[in-house]
Amino acid sequence: MENSLLELQAEAFSDAANRGVRYLRQIGSRHVDADTSRIAELGVSLPEHGRDVKSVLDLMETVGGEGTVATAAGRYFGYVIGGALPAASGARALLSAWDQVADQLTGPSVLEMEKAALSWIVDLLQLPEGTSGAFTTGATMANMTLLVTARDTLLSRLGHARGAGLVGAPQLRIVASREIHATVLKSVRMAGLSTDGIEWVEVDGEGRMLTGKMPKLDERTLVLCQAGNVCTGAVDPLTEIGESCRAAGAWMHVDGAFGLWSRTGSFLRRAFDGLELADSWVVDSHKTLNTPYDAGVALCRHPEEMQASMAIGAGYLPATNPGPSDRAPEFSRSARGAETWAALLSLGRQGVSDMVTRFHLHAVRVARELRELGFEVPHQVHFNQVFATLPGNEEMCAQIVAHVQASGEAWFGPAVWQGRKGFRISVSNWTTSDDDVDRLVSAIKDAKAQLL
Ligand SMILES: *Cc1c(COP(=O)(O)O)cnc(C)c1O
Repeated sequence: MENSLLELQAEAFSDAANRGVRYLRQIGSRHVDADTSRIAELGVSLPEHGRDVKSVLDLMETVGGEGTVATAAGRYFGYVIGGALPAASGARALLSAWDQVADQLTGPSVLEMEKAALSWIVDLLQLPEGTSGAFTTGATMANMTLLVTARDTLLSRLGHARGAGLVGAPQLRIVASREIHATVLKSVRMAGLSTDGIEWVEVDGEGRMLTGKMPKLDERTLVLCQAGNVCTGAVDPLTEIGESCRAAGAWMHVDGAFGLWSRTGSFLRRAFDGLELADSWVVDSHKTLNTPYDAGVALCRHPEEMQASMAIGAGYLPATNPGPSDRAPEFSRSARGAETWAALLSLGRQGVSDMVTRFHLHAVRVARELRELGFEVPHQVHFNQVFATLPGNEEMCAQIVAHVQASGEAWFGPAVWQGRKGFRISVSNWTTSDDDVDRLVSAIKDAKAQLL
């Protein structure tokens, strides 16, 4: 290589790759939780003269590595985290060498990958023709992007132009599921809308909106529903909600952060009838699809409205060819969609379906075995999420969680579902095997036996 400085980068890249290989070869047999006993060493005061690259990577590998939670491996069942598929992980590594900004002028090939990935997702999720969108850092930012779009579109239909600001704008209404994810409420606030004024819709025992309890909608209303309840995986009744929204001229938004992918399996297909009636959808890559963090997708059936809300239009930018920064909040950003492209290309249509079906079957088995151990799972297993509690002894659930976490055999967290205390298990890692599920169930069984 001619440039010796680039040779230094190439060496660091190769060194880091080898360290990554070592990490991946041991993470599956390790204690799941992090060993944080030495992490303070990472906060050394900034040296006057820099250290050599190898010593930086040494510190990162040793102290940093042991301070990681083994979310990359199959015995992590907390939240909905997912791991990283081989092609997506490899793509991340290549992207770090390329250092492209996702834009027509600075990263034409990665932009093409993102475009392909977006159209594959629209196709896989059977969203209406013409639907398009943008990659964001996650579902929170995707929700925010679409809530801003919805807000602006409803207001401009009411004669209040984009650019006029919110002061003096007509009052919009928000109708939302009582179970909508907490981050969506944050997005509502970031969009300058009122959470205090939300008209809540009560839910059934699975966490689905009771459409009979929806208020009358109108053309000033934004309806927030979800595909994939974080405790049960349930999907709101989309057809009924969609038809009401259509009849009233309301905007229907679906948060499907992790759950929308379950449409690609055959176990839940009917639940997604009516999905195509919505105006906007959110889905994550970094959770269920198992790409590295962070990537989410904002999808809209009116991409021109997204553009009207998000476009930049600086004098030195080409006026005609809108890029990703014209549909999402960020201007300069990584080509995170290229990892989604790699994940989808390596799985194919069947591979995506097989993966979500595997998550579902593991979750069904977890629920069955927990019931056999005397736990109550007060919901159907719609997808990959299982909430469990101990009837008459709910307080013990937190102790069981702590016991299992300390054992290093598995990791999941406590949860409260419809007023009941228990714990929640999420199957979302592409490597999770029958053996991993065996170890999870045994760890819970041991914890319960020791505590009783
Ligand atoms: C995780 C999650 C979010 C937020 O997604 P991020 O990608 O973490 O920003 C929103 N809604 C639901 C249902 C989620 O599970």
